[in-house]
Amino acid sequence: MFDRLVRLIRIYGNGGLIHAKFQIQGDSLIRVTIPNKNLMQYNPGSYVFLYVMTPLGFWQSHPFSPFISRQSGEEGSLTLLSKRQGGITKNLFNQLTASNGQAQHKVLVEGFYGHTPPLRVFHTIVILSSGSGITAVYSVADSLRNLASRGTHVVFRWIVQNESALDWANAELESLVGVVDLNIYITQGINERESATEKNATSSLPVLPITYSHDRPNVTAWVDGLVDEAKGSVAFMS
Ligand SMILES: Cc1cc2nc3c(=O)[nH]c(=O)nc-3n(C[C@H](O)[C@H](O)[C@H](O)COP(=O)(O)OP(=O)(O)OC[C@H]3O[C@@H](n4cnc5c(N)ncnc54)[C@H](O)[C@@H]3O)c2cc1C
Repeated sequence: MFDRLVRLIRIYGNGGLIHAKFQIQGDSLIRVTIPNKNLMQYNPGSYVFLYVMTPLGFWQSHPFSPFISRQSGEEGSLTLLSKRQGGITKNLFNQLTASNGQAQHKVLVEGFYGHTPPLRVFHTIVILSSGSGITAVYSVADSLRNLASRGTHVVFRWIVQNESALDWANAELESLVGVVDLNIYITQGINERESATEKNATSSLPVLPITYSHDRPNVTAWVDGLVDEAKGSVAFMS
């Protein structure tokens, strides 16, 4: 009973019913954009339970790791990236496919839960992620942007299967260029589209540091190399 009351207070504290934008991103992701007007204090690395007010799922809540959007026109919005699974996320994905990939739904946001990991005390901070797992760590990397000037080395490595991932994460990744030691590894589908590096080079956008790899990157060798090179203590987050 007390638990439910606390949940209700957290939902109410975030403004109750909120209109959110749902969009398909890439082949299997839904991007949920939630205006950040009345939300409670957000901490990088935290998670929320999301209730989507559709007839097929309003009674369920699911955990997601939000981040603050850097996309033009949506800056500052609370954003979730949800991978299509087999339950409500599949229903939502199918509904979006049937409505040109975009829709508005009312949502309830319960949270924030979790905490920001205490990485700032380390000399080298290594953040590794793959695919849509970036949502859980991007907000933490973004919060470490002022550490380089203090001599902390922040390394961010992201492994994706194909270049379509660059479409939905471009603005966020651009915001990390030059701030953290960023590298993106694309393991498949390299010849299917024009090179993202070339695409960016012809626009005014910064060129993302992309490494094309026909094999899976050797994460064990990375970890060993980073530990050998590091001066002082090293933290890994993945
Ligand atoms: C702290 C946390 C943060 C997360 N952040 C993200 C994120 O940012 N992006 C993302 O795509 N996914 C995230 N997930 C996973 C996400 O919650 C599930 O993918 C989602 O609940 C699947 O819903 P579904 O009904 O389509 O799942 P189903 O197809 O029914 O299940 C798919 C998988 O999700 C798990 N799952 C289903 N319901 C829940 C639930 N209520 N709580 C926990 N796990 C559940 C199942 O055990 C199964 O492994 C996170 C999970 C946790 C625990």
